[in-house]
Order: sequence, then C-alpha cells, then structure tokens
Amino acid sequence: MLSKNWNSLNKSILNCRKCKRLVNFREKIARNKTKRYNDWKYWGKPVLGYGDRQGELIILGLAPAAHGGNRTGRVFTGDKSADFLIDCLHKSKITNKPQSEHKNDGLKMLNSYMTPVLKCVPPEDKPTSKELTTCFDFFEEEIKLLNKSKIFLALGKIAFDACIKFFKKKKIIDNNNKYKFSHGISYKINNKLIIIGSYHPSPRNVNTGRLNKRKMLNLLKKIKKKIN
Ligand code: SF4
Repeated sequence: MLSKNWNSLNKSILNCRKCKRLVNFREKIARNKTKRYNDWKYWGKPVLGYGDRQGELIILGLAPAAHGGNRTGRVFTGDKSADFLIDCLHKSKITNKPQSEHKNDGLKMLNSYMTPVLKCVPPEDKPTSKELTTCFDFFEEEIKLLNKSKIFLALGKIAFDACIKFFKKKKIIDNNNKYKFSHGISYKINNKLIIIGSYHPSPRNVNTGRLNKRKMLNLLKKIKKKIN
C-alpha cells in the first residue's frame, strides 16, 4: 500500500542517525539556536519532503537550512531561500500562498512536491560525498513513491546530480550519458520524464544577482507549460 510505504519510509528517515557529523550538527544547532529564534523549540531532526505526493512537479533542494528547515521541521520553510522560492511558486500558481513560515501556516503545494536530497543540515551547506551516498537510499525510495512525477526541477548541482544518479541507477537512462548542470538546462529523460536545472535560491545566489525573481519566474512559466 502506498500510504504504508510512505509511513515506513518517513519513519525510517525521522529515526535516522547514520551520519554522525550531521546528527551532531543538527542537534547542536537545535540546542544553541540563534538569537532571533531563541523562543523556538527547534526541530533538530531529519526533514521530510512536503506537498502533493501525486504531484507532477517535483522540486529538489539540497538540504534543510540550519535555522530554516532544521528549526521549523519543514523543507523550504522559515528562511531566505524559502521566502524567495515560495513567492515565485505562488506567482506561478504552484503554491496557494506566497510565504512558507512554519508547519501550521496552511501552505499547500499544488500538483507539486518538494524535498531535500539530503535530509539533515550539513555544516556550511557542504555535505561530504559519503553523506550524500548514505542518504541517497532514502531519496531513491521517495522518488520511487512519487509515481505521477513528470518534471524534476533540481535547485543546484547537487540536487541535479542526485536525480541523474537515480535515473541511471534505475536504468531509465544510459550510464555513459553525460548530463551537465546549468540554470535553465532541460533534458528529456524518456517519454514521460524531464529534468530541469536551476540555480539554488540561496541568499548567496540571490545577493550576487546570479538568480533573481524574473529568471526564476521565466523558468517556472516554461515548466507550467510543459505540465499543462
Ligand atoms: S543525512 Fe540522511 S542518512 Fe544521514 S543521518 Fe540524516 S537522514 Fe540519515
């Protein structure tokens, strides 16, 4: 049963302590907090995917943010990346509201689902390849369950590479094929699936002008056309 699989997968993720460095880091942040969120009880655990499990658009992030997902317990919630992304998604009619602030804020993903490829926050947003490989098992199970998926929007190279690894492992694409990440790049994987790359909406990319709302909205417009 689908729900049973989702339940057991999510339970395994939430109980996971396989990456010692990341477990220590996520819990240390939850204990020490930051001044502006001192009155919060931080989540401090792995962060699950969120949205419509029957959705056709799958949005892939890198990992929860230290004082975003690791605080609020929901992916792309309560940080600057979320402010940018969710506003763009709302303008593109992919969410029901423009903010993602906390778990009970009523945010709904419309025909879409978002998830981090790594479920725990890494120091300086830099996971090791071993940590990515360890968490890939969860990502793989999750993507298998998202059986109505059509378009994968990978925010950043790490999310893009994880998605390509999944398609290669499932033999949906040839192992020798090369897929290069760039903003706006689109690859047709087969008759049903498409992967699209985008710069991650991190403050660094936004503040340097690498990514702005016009660029992101243009990309989302193209994605909406492909879905409809
Ligand atoms: S990153 Fe993934 S594999 Fe590592 S501890 Fe977190 S949930 Fe477990």
